[in-house]
Amino acid sequence: MKKSPVGIVGAGPVGLLCALGLARSGVECVLIERESGVADSPRAIAHHWSTLPGLDALGVLDTCFDRGFRKNDFAVKSYKTGEEIRWTLDVLNGRAKFPYNLYLPSTRLGR
Ligand SMILES: Cc1cc2nc3c(=O)[nH]c(=O)nc-3n(C[C@H](O)[C@H](O)[C@H](O)COP(=O)(O)OP(=O)(O)OC[C@H]3O[C@@H](n4cnc5c(N)ncnc54)[C@H](O)[C@@H]3O)c2cc1C
Repeated sequence: MKKSPVGIVGAGPVGLLCALGLARSGVECVLIERESGVADSPRAIAHHWSTLPGLDALGVLDTCFDRGFRKNDFAVKSYKTGEEIRWTLDVLNGRAKFPYNLYLPSTRLGR
Protein backbone atom coordinates (compact mmCIF):
# COMPACT_ATOMS: atom_id res chain seq x y z
CA MET A 1 0.00 0.00 0.00
CA LYS A 2 1.18 3.50 -0.77
CA LYS A 3 1.53 5.64 2.35
CA SER A 4 0.90 9.38 2.15
CA PRO A 5 1.23 11.96 4.89
CA VAL A 6 -2.02 13.30 6.36
CA GLY A 7 -2.77 16.82 5.13
CA ILE A 8 -4.11 19.30 7.66
CA VAL A 9 -5.34 22.69 6.46
CA GLY A 10 -5.10 25.54 8.97
CA ALA A 11 -2.75 26.12 11.88
CA GLY A 12 -5.49 27.15 14.29
CA PRO A 13 -5.73 25.34 17.63
CA VAL A 14 -7.56 22.39 16.03
CA GLY A 15 -5.03 21.91 13.21
CA LEU A 16 -2.00 22.33 15.47
CA LEU A 17 -3.27 19.91 18.14
CA CYS A 18 -4.35 17.44 15.46
CA ALA A 19 -0.85 17.58 13.92
CA LEU A 20 0.75 17.16 17.34
CA GLY A 21 -1.44 14.12 18.13
CA LEU A 22 -0.69 12.48 14.80
CA ALA A 23 3.06 13.18 15.07
CA ARG A 24 3.17 11.80 18.62
CA SER A 25 1.46 8.66 17.26
CA GLY A 26 4.10 8.33 14.55
CA VAL A 27 1.83 9.45 11.71
CA GLU A 28 3.52 11.76 9.22
CA CYS A 29 1.52 14.88 8.51
CA VAL A 30 1.79 18.15 6.61
CA LEU A 31 0.25 21.28 8.08
CA ILE A 32 -0.72 23.99 5.59
CA GLU A 33 -1.37 27.54 6.78
CA ARG A 34 -2.23 30.46 4.53
CA GLU A 35 -0.73 33.04 6.88
CA SER A 36 3.03 33.35 7.45
CA GLY A 37 2.75 31.91 10.98
CA VAL A 38 0.38 31.13 13.81
CA ALA A 39 -2.47 33.67 13.69
CA ASP A 40 -1.86 36.56 16.07
CA SER A 41 -5.47 37.64 16.67
CA PRO A 42 -6.52 36.57 20.16
CA ARG A 43 -9.56 34.33 19.73
CA ALA A 44 -10.16 31.51 22.18
CA ILE A 45 -8.94 32.36 25.64
CA ALA A 46 -11.01 30.02 27.82
CA HIS A 47 -10.25 26.32 27.43
CA HIS A 48 -13.01 24.46 29.18
CA TRP A 49 -12.35 21.82 31.81
CA SER A 50 -13.61 19.01 29.55
CA THR A 51 -10.84 19.74 26.99
CA LEU A 52 -7.95 19.65 29.49
CA PRO A 53 -7.55 15.82 29.51
CA GLY A 54 -6.91 16.09 25.75
CA LEU A 55 -4.10 18.62 26.29
CA ASP A 56 -2.78 16.39 29.08
CA ALA A 57 -2.74 13.33 26.79
CA LEU A 58 -0.72 15.35 24.26
CA GLY A 59 1.81 16.23 26.98
CA VAL A 60 1.33 20.00 26.79
CA LEU A 61 -0.96 20.72 29.74
CA ASP A 62 1.78 21.53 32.29
CA THR A 63 3.32 24.05 29.88
CA CYS A 64 -0.13 25.55 29.32
CA PHE A 65 -0.62 25.87 33.09
CA ASP A 66 2.77 27.64 33.33
CA ARG A 67 1.85 30.15 30.59
CA GLY A 68 -1.80 30.71 31.47
CA PHE A 69 -3.88 30.49 34.60
CA ARG A 70 -6.63 28.29 36.07
CA LYS A 71 -10.00 29.55 37.24
CA ASN A 72 -13.16 27.91 38.53
CA ASP A 73 -15.36 30.87 39.45
CA PHE A 74 -17.08 33.28 37.09
CA ALA A 75 -19.35 36.31 37.05
CA VAL A 76 -21.54 38.03 34.51
CA LYS A 77 -22.74 41.57 35.16
CA SER A 78 -25.48 43.51 33.44
CA TYR A 79 -24.35 47.14 33.37
CA LYS A 80 -27.93 48.17 32.56
CA THR A 81 -29.51 46.70 35.71
CA GLY A 82 -26.45 46.15 37.91
CA GLU A 83 -27.53 42.51 38.30
CA GLU A 84 -24.61 40.14 38.82
CA ILE A 85 -24.65 36.37 38.42
CA ARG A 86 -21.83 34.38 39.99
CA TRP A 87 -21.15 30.66 39.67
CA THR A 88 -18.39 28.12 40.20
CA LEU A 89 -17.32 24.73 38.88
CA ASP A 90 -17.22 23.27 42.42
CA VAL A 91 -19.69 20.58 41.35
CA LEU A 92 -16.79 19.03 39.39
CA ASN A 93 -14.62 18.54 42.49
CA GLY A 94 -13.97 14.79 42.83
CA ARG A 95 -15.71 14.14 39.52
CA ALA A 96 -13.30 15.63 36.97
CA LYS A 97 -9.51 15.36 36.91
CA PHE A 98 -9.23 19.09 36.18
CA PRO A 99 -12.20 20.88 37.81
CA TYR A 100 -11.37 24.33 36.40
CA ASN A 101 -10.89 26.09 33.08
CA LEU A 102 -7.55 27.11 31.62
CA TYR A 103 -7.12 30.70 30.43
CA LEU A 104 -4.49 31.00 27.73
CA PRO A 105 -4.89 32.91 24.45
CA SER A 106 -5.10 30.44 21.55
CA THR A 107 -2.16 32.22 19.89
CA ARG A 108 0.05 31.30 22.87
CA LEU A 109 -1.40 27.79 22.94
CA GLY A 110 -0.47 27.46 19.27
CA ARG A 111 3.10 28.57 19.86
C1 LIG B 1 -13.84 36.75 19.48
C2 LIG B 1 -13.82 35.25 19.67
C3 LIG B 1 -13.65 34.75 20.98
C4 LIG B 1 -13.62 33.37 21.20
N1 LIG B 1 -13.43 32.89 22.47
C5 LIG B 1 -13.37 31.58 22.69
C6 LIG B 1 -13.09 31.07 23.99
O1 LIG B 1 -12.89 31.83 24.94
N2 LIG B 1 -13.04 29.72 24.16
C7 LIG B 1 -13.22 28.85 23.11
O2 LIG B 1 -13.14 27.62 23.34
N3 LIG B 1 -13.47 29.31 21.86
C8 LIG B 1 -13.54 30.63 21.63
N4 LIG B 1 -13.76 31.09 20.35
C9 LIG B 1 -13.90 30.11 19.28
C10 LIG B 1 -12.50 29.63 18.85
O3 LIG B 1 -11.70 30.75 18.46
C11 LIG B 1 -12.66 28.66 17.67
O4 LIG B 1 -13.53 27.61 18.05
C12 LIG B 1 -11.30 28.09 17.31
O5 LIG B 1 -10.40 29.12 16.94
C13 LIG B 1 -11.48 27.11 16.16
O6 LIG B 1 -10.21 26.59 15.90
P1 LIG B 1 -9.83 26.08 14.47
O7 LIG B 1 -8.41 25.62 14.55
O8 LIG B 1 -10.85 25.09 14.01
O9 LIG B 1 -10.02 27.33 13.49
P2 LIG B 1 -9.29 28.76 13.45
O10 LIG B 1 -8.79 29.18 14.79
O11 LIG B 1 -10.23 29.65 12.72
O12 LIG B 1 -8.00 28.49 12.56
C14 LIG B 1 -8.14 28.23 11.18
C15 LIG B 1 -6.77 28.45 10.55
O13 LIG B 1 -6.86 27.99 9.21
C16 LIG B 1 -6.24 28.95 8.36
N5 LIG B 1 -6.88 28.79 7.04
C17 LIG B 1 -8.16 29.05 6.72
N6 LIG B 1 -8.38 28.74 5.44
C18 LIG B 1 -7.22 28.26 4.94
C19 LIG B 1 -6.82 27.77 3.67
N7 LIG B 1 -7.67 27.72 2.64
N8 LIG B 1 -5.55 27.35 3.52
C20 LIG B 1 -4.67 27.40 4.56
N9 LIG B 1 -4.97 27.86 5.78
C21 LIG B 1 -6.25 28.29 5.98
C22 LIG B 1 -6.50 30.29 9.02
O14 LIG B 1 -5.53 31.27 8.64
C23 LIG B 1 -6.35 29.92 10.51
O15 LIG B 1 -5.01 30.03 10.97
C24 LIG B 1 -13.78 32.47 20.11
C25 LIG B 1 -13.94 32.99 18.80
C26 LIG B 1 -13.93 34.34 18.59
C27 LIG B 1 -14.06 34.88 17.17
